[in-house]
Amino acid sequence: MEDCIFCKIIKGEIPCVKIWEDENYLAFLDVNPINTGHTLLIPKQHDEYIFDIEDNKYCELLLKAKNLAKILKLKLQSKRIGMVVEGFGVSHIHIHLIPINKMNEMDSKNKKSVEIEELKKIADKILKK
Ligand SMILES: [Zn+2]
Repeated sequence: MEDCIFCKIIKGEIPCVKIWEDENYLAFLDVNPINTGHTLLIPKQHDEYIFDIEDNKYCELLLKAKNLAKILKLKLQSKRIGMVVEGFGVSHIHIHLIPINKMNEMDSKNKKSVEIEELKKIADKILKK
């Protein structure tokens, strides 16, 4: 999709702070995180609505989310990783993975803008062996 910001990120036309990728999926830090380490997981193929995709793709996507959540939880020492799918902001499937420590933390009112340099430091922490 030409005007899709996530497709542009996948093509490298818009920079992102990458956490992980493989052939079909990409994960990067949200520039307006609700909490430190707030990650977006997206399929590289442009589809709009998560519940419209084929079963095998859906399962694969959720398994990628599970694996990523384990890494985020371990590296960022959060109690849990919350998962949210809305898709109104950008109509390219994306799963929000948000490190959380108590109830009601996944509130978009908690969003704050974070500088790229700061995001890179968080990425280093997540990627450190
Ligand atoms: Zn797209």
